[in-house]
Amino acid sequence: MICVIIACGSHSRMISEHQSLAADGVTLVELRLDFLRREPDIRRLIPDRPTATIITARRTQDGGLWRDTEEKRLRLLRSAIAAEPEFVDLEVDIADKIPPFGATHRIISYHDLEKTPENLDALHREMLTKSPYFIKIAVTPKTVDDLFRFVTFIREKNREAKQLGDKGVRVVGIGMGEMGKATRILAKKFGMPYTYATFSQERMIAPGMLVYKELLDLYHYDQTDADSVVYGIIGNPIGHSLSPLIHNRSFIGQKINAVYIPFPLDDDNVTDFIRRANEWDIKGLSVTIPHKVAVTKHLTKMDPAVEKIGACNTVVFRGEERLGYNTDYVAAVSSIEAAMGGNFTDEKRILDGKNALILGAGGAGMALAYGLKKRGALVTITDINGNRAYDLSKHLDCEIVDWKSRDKLKQDILVNCTPIGMYPNMDESPFDKSALRPRMVVFDAVYNPENTLLLKSAREKGCIAISGVEMFVGQACLQFKLFTNQKASATLMRNLVRDAMSAAH
Ligand code: NAP
Repeated sequence: MICVIIACGSHSRMISEHQSLAADGVTLVELRLDFLRREPDIRRLIPDRPTATIITARRTQDGGLWRDTEEKRLRLLRSAIAAEPEFVDLEVDIADKIPPFGATHRIISYHDLEKTPENLDALHREMLTKSPYFIKIAVTPKTVDDLFRFVTFIREKNREAKQLGDKGVRVVGIGMGEMGKATRILAKKFGMPYTYATFSQERMIAPGMLVYKELLDLYHYDQTDADSVVYGIIGNPIGHSLSPLIHNRSFIGQKINAVYIPFPLDDDNVTDFIRRANEWDIKGLSVTIPHKVAVTKHLTKMDPAVEKIGACNTVVFRGEERLGYNTDYVAAVSSIEAAMGGNFTDEKRILDGKNALILGAGGAGMALAYGLKKRGALVTITDINGNRAYDLSKHLDCEIVDWKSRDKLKQDILVNCTPIGMYPNMDESPFDKSALRPRMVVFDAVYNPENTLLLKSAREKGCIAISGVEMFVGQACLQFKLFTNQKASATLMRNLVRDAMSAAH
């Protein structure tokens, strides 16, 4: 179940949002009385409530907005209980001051906005003495170790509660901040009775919180359970990644009980995350900037491309094994070959002997250089950073050209692997239009926007233009196959990417 939090300044707004949520099928709502600008009027909010309701008046020290006296807050909570809502939220330290009353269930809560306390067991024992119906513990994990320790604790307490049957008290564990987002998405997997979400993006009242529609539509929360397999993406930043959207929709489309989650990790947390991934049934990870290189040292096996490129964008967990793949290069090169009328798996290689110029010697440039060379192309590399281009050319035994002379070569294939032309700098191009020739193949790794200035110019000059969307969708399809052994629909993924990008701009 999702409890949608209504936190707004006026009674009438609170009532109308409550009604609209009920009409949307929401069955549990938390009314945050501390957000009301005027004195909360229980008689307007509780008697005609359209769903089961949690009444909360949160203090500032716990992340709320209650600014009046503590005495007044306790009085308000007592009078709210007298109106018999389904639940009242009472912080553990004040729970004794408000005795159980009537049919209202008590949610005994604890918030730590700074850290994840060490003494979770002692805290839980104390909370159990306050006549709870549910326990809610919200902490702030700063490291992967904090997060996994917290989740282990929550799962254990919920397992114990289940064994106790009616006498058991289930625990809602919230990891606040981006690091803790997975606790909100995987609440059902971790045995929690419900999770919290907010009404809308504008009502984001706690860091890492999700909008309830996002939880339902993007992470298909209702369909998850204790057996859901977990996949995800590690990187930093990954807030705008489209990978959760395309993988989760593909899981739903193919009735696979799995959920794909963004894990924003800084460098210090990658090792612990990979080491502990099995604890959460994480079976596969997409890896993006800046961890594609660092992750290779945690692999037990890697495909030859990862070994040679030194970068891995896909990790598959199989028992104790951690298998590393690079689906970027296959996706990019096969989209180029397909556009030229060839086939990545053909014996006859359409790229044989073709001259390819790669702009940008970073992660994508390295993958493309490896892939094009492997398929027989004669590769030249250039980068604004000459040393980087030189190192890559030595590593993969390619030619090199000075960045300033890049427009002077007569190439069959031009590949942009710089971010030039990427949103919001859409009026920039990494290559002089006058140097584009008819029938030249132009591939742009940039996929946002789909039609970069470079590709528009290429089409105008009669070139074969290939968008980075093909690479993005292609690498995701290959990952999906490695993750699940099922074939993803490239059309579905492509449409999702296009729709998401046009909605965002
Ligand atoms: P990267 O590792 O940072 O490499 C980019 C290279 O381009 C770096 O050498 C960088 O030099 C250079 N560069 C950056 N800005 C430049 C500029 N204004 N002028 C000239 N050179 C510049 O990035 P990446 O991972 O290879 O990604 C490159 C592009 O490919 C990005 O737009 C990314 O979104 C796209 N990409 C697409 C896919 C896909 O699936 N379609 C997959 C991967 C990447 P400095 O480091 O000195 O800035």
